[in-house]
Amino acid sequence: MTTPATSPTTRSKGRGAPGKHRVVVIGSGFGGLFGTKQLRKADVEVTMIAKTTHHLFQPLLYQVATGILSEGEIAPPTREILSRQANAQVLLGEVTAIDLEAQTVTSHVLGRETVTSYDSLIVAAGAGQSYFGNDHFAEFAPGMKNIDDALELRGRIFGAFEMAELGANRGENVDHLLTFVVVGAGPTGVEMAGQIAELAHRTLRRDFRSINTRTARVVLVDAAPQVLPPFGAKLGATTKKELEKLGVEVVLGAMVTDVDERGLTMKFKDGRVERIESVTKIWAAGVQASPLGATLAEQTGAPLDRAGRIGVNPDLTLPGHPEVFVVGDMIALDNLPGVAQVAIQGAKYAAKEIDHRLKGKPSQGPFKYFDKGSMATISRFRAVAMIGKIRITGFTAWLMWLAVHLVYITGFKNRVTAVLHWLVSFLGRGRSERTATEQQIFGRSALARLERGAVDLVSAPGEYDAKAEERRAELEAIAAEETRLTDSGQRGVKVADRV
Ligand SMILES: Cc1cc2nc3c(=O)[nH]c(=O)nc-3n(C[C@H](O)[C@H](O)[C@H](O)COP(=O)(O)OP(=O)(O)OC[C@H]3O[C@@H](n4cnc5c(N)ncnc54)[C@H](O)[C@@H]3O)c2cc1C
Repeated sequence: MTTPATSPTTRSKGRGAPGKHRVVVIGSGFGGLFGTKQLRKADVEVTMIAKTTHHLFQPLLYQVATGILSEGEIAPPTREILSRQANAQVLLGEVTAIDLEAQTVTSHVLGRETVTSYDSLIVAAGAGQSYFGNDHFAEFAPGMKNIDDALELRGRIFGAFEMAELGANRGENVDHLLTFVVVGAGPTGVEMAGQIAELAHRTLRRDFRSINTRTARVVLVDAAPQVLPPFGAKLGATTKKELEKLGVEVVLGAMVTDVDERGLTMKFKDGRVERIESVTKIWAAGVQASPLGATLAEQTGAPLDRAGRIGVNPDLTLPGHPEVFVVGDMIALDNLPGVAQVAIQGAKYAAKEIDHRLKGKPSQGPFKYFDKGSMATISRFRAVAMIGKIRITGFTAWLMWLAVHLVYITGFKNRVTAVLHWLVSFLGRGRSERTATEQQIFGRSALARLERGAVDLVSAPGEYDAKAEERRAELEAIAAEETRLTDSGQRGVKVADRV
């Protein structure tokens, strides 16, 4: 989280008739968007505050990372989606504080602070990646939680093949460049490993001259004894077999203990330690709920679990604060999984509850989650699905996956273009979205080296400060220098430490 610069504070006034019930929704993900839409006919004024301007369809991030879909197809602008909902406004900003006593939410964007008052609050800020206390792994093994992650990974994956071609031209050993390791064998890890294998074995096989992309190694590592643990042993075993048929090496029971620029180290239960030399690592293990959960727990005494999820009442409200609902990936309630349907159904429930109260209707009672099933794709035409006690595998499961994702992609035009891109990738062997820029790959590292991130790159609102301008130029130059690739192919090495 960036430190807010001191700046004038704006009080968000809202636009509705005076005295209208004000609902603030934090987040534009599944919970935030579906909660806001559910309130479209309610006699309220809704303000959605989110740190991105888009609604993100996270389940398809891996397809952006591997060049199948464009980022726009899975991340349409929230403002456009809500343009016809007259009672809703959208504010860009990262929420840094929630004051339950004063009933206000404070958000920041590029040094501008906004304080927004509410009568009811729906918090749907989701979860980020967890490196289980090893946050320094993030620089070398990006996770996959947002568009920045997916585009950075796209650049790293396609970039690794390019660097391997260059190295092979010079007669160097390029095995470390042609080895891709995915950490975490949940649905995201399985999908990612399957897609990289397809890239190497199908898509890119005729595109290079000095390397044979089919020799690329794709390794999927997990500390658990099976892949897809929530899907049960049988579907886990089927998925493992399918991945191996695709050429993915599945390494189970291995805990990743270190990650660096050139590879990663794993420790097995029997004490064995192994290292894999790999430039491209992808982290798909573990989630940590938004830090806003801790803010709310401090003020209410609600418990937090190890993943930072907050314990809520059965009606999704906070103890002593019936006006505050928390939904989706942020909550710990009845072992509900961190999936889109929990967020969607929870947010719709919260919105209805607010509407019922205003209309004097009785409460709906405790929140009840309806499990519609889970599915994961392995490769084109291969998926696994679990609906109640029914287990489906192979092509039928893949067709179901296709249908469900088409229904939930937001916007008609996005559905049409996604189908076209899927035809290109699944029936043909192409990838329409292979473009990646240097800034996508290294921009984040550069920003991380600035003192306060992007805030350092802009003037405070309404003022021009020549000294600050000079300092900014200095910081930018340092950041650019430190993240540039060295001749030996190293990245992210401080200038002074370079060999
Ligand atoms: C790679 C990946 C694949 C997945 N695949 C599947 C799948 O196949 N099926 C499935 O059911 N689920 C899947 N999930 C899980 C699913 O996406 C989540 O359970 C769901 O998005 C949770 O919804 P949410 O509203 O709680 O959080 P999110 O959808 O994550 O939304 C959180 C929102 O809050 C905003 N935000 C966060 N912090 C702040 C802040 N401080 N201030 C302002 N805004 C903030 C974010 O920008 C975002 O808009 C996947 C998740 C990932 C990461």
